[in-house]
Amino acid sequence: MQQLIQQQRDFFNTNTTKSIAFRKQQLQKLYDVIKSNEQLLYDAIFKDFKKSEFETFTTELALIYSDIKEAKKKVGKWSKIKRKRTNLVNLPAKSYVIPEPLGVALVIGAWNYPYQLSFAPAIAAITAGCTIVLKPSEIPSNTSAAMAQIINNNFDANYFKVVEGGITETTALLKEKFDKIFFTGSTTVGRIVYQAAAKHLTPVTLELGGKSPAFITKTANLKMAAKRLIWAKFLNAGQTCIAPDYLLVHESIKEEFLKLLVLESEKSHFSTNNNNYVQIINTKNTERLISLIDKSKIYYGGNYDLEKRIIEPTILTDISFDDIIMQEEIFGPILPIITYTNIQETIIKVKSMPKPLSCYVFTKENTSKHKIFNEISFGGGCVNDALMHISNSHFGFGGVGDSGIGSYHGEEGFKAFTHYKSILDKSNLFEANLKYYPYSDKKLSLIKRMMGL
Ligand code: NAD
Repeated sequence: MQQLIQQQRDFFNTNTTKSIAFRKQQLQKLYDVIKSNEQLLYDAIFKDFKKSEFETFTTELALIYSDIKEAKKKVGKWSKIKRKRTNLVNLPAKSYVIPEPLGVALVIGAWNYPYQLSFAPAIAAITAGCTIVLKPSEIPSNTSAAMAQIINNNFDANYFKVVEGGITETTALLKEKFDKIFFTGSTTVGRIVYQAAAKHLTPVTLELGGKSPAFITKTANLKMAAKRLIWAKFLNAGQTCIAPDYLLVHESIKEEFLKLLVLESEKSHFSTNNNNYVQIINTKNTERLISLIDKSKIYYGGNYDLEKRIIEPTILTDISFDDIIMQEEIFGPILPIITYTNIQETIIKVKSMPKPLSCYVFTKENTSKHKIFNEISFGGGCVNDALMHISNSHFGFGGVGDSGIGSYHGEEGFKAFTHYKSILDKSNLFEANLKYYPYSDKKLSLIKRMMGL
């Protein structure tokens, strides 16, 4: 590890990665490498958790390709020196900000969208001009091996290297000094990463998880809400960091909405017999999820096959915040429904929990929407939809508090791997004597006047 990081640091110090042409070239190379190995990537992910080509393309590769295309187009603009205004006391002078790549970056990926969560931060690092050590999650072993194969066979290790491994390898990596650590995973491991980074004062981006609520008020378009929520919850069998973890449904619309949720679930054809529905990642997680299903509260679904690692889309009703399913991020195809009558009390309850990664509001009126957004702190979200905010790279994606630090995608990703040097570029034309000895009342009052005080 030490040798690899030193090699990358030496390469970074040659300034090669600072050239915009080089960055564009590497982005194009990554695009071509992924494109020409699509089948390998599809096969690997199918072996890991039976994810279909359709979903692998729409939820992983499509985002990667569009990130690369946008980065190639915008890297020149994002890397430009930016002029800033100069304040009165410094005139005559120019002020500007120089974006510079942070250096050697470590990217640690999570398993649930293994390609997207590894490559999207790597794309941001390439665009910013960093070198990259990428450690994908070891849990989907086939996708980890596929990424190692296609990257390590096509890129120089001193620029971009995939290191495979689990806790031991990651712990060894985290002992070393990086210039940036970008981590995606659980809040628990996020804390370990943050502590390791602190030893070297390495800046971090932490993309973590949490329990993301979805409010369904009495004015919501229920049919549309059910359609969008069922897709968002059961996509990837609920193993999505921004999946609606639980629903907060106004009591007056509960019965009608539950029926619509069931109707939409049936229409989705999630089944063990087709490729619409992925497996749970491993037996341990399948067992954990099964233990969260309170049989007395099943409204729909609830069946499972432990051996095949499949759990039916399951809806639980009459859930309260004290139920076991409300004590941890679900990260699986179980949808608990809590009803409310008083939105203010519900907001207070959500605010007493760790800050979620996402929050969704399904409503036709503005009052509750504004109230929820004004009072609850969360990473990002949608009105009348769920999940889709991640697909808009015109704004950043990330958490707050327990759900993360920093954001990425589009220019925000570039910024995550960039330091902005602020430069005051002074003219030699003349020098005012105000700040120099001897001090006087006259000088002081002039300084105050210049400051508008
Ligand atoms: P995880 O925290 O278990 O693992 C993430 C990475 O950390 C893996 O690469 C793993 O090898 C490594 N790791 C695990 N234990 C470690 C340790 N003790 N020391 C050092 N490294 C260690 O997370 P996961 O199970 O892969 O992913 C699920 C979690 O990630 C969920 O909480 C989910 O919400 C979150 N997540 C967040 C986002 C996001 O963008 N915010 C995206 C996907 C997943």
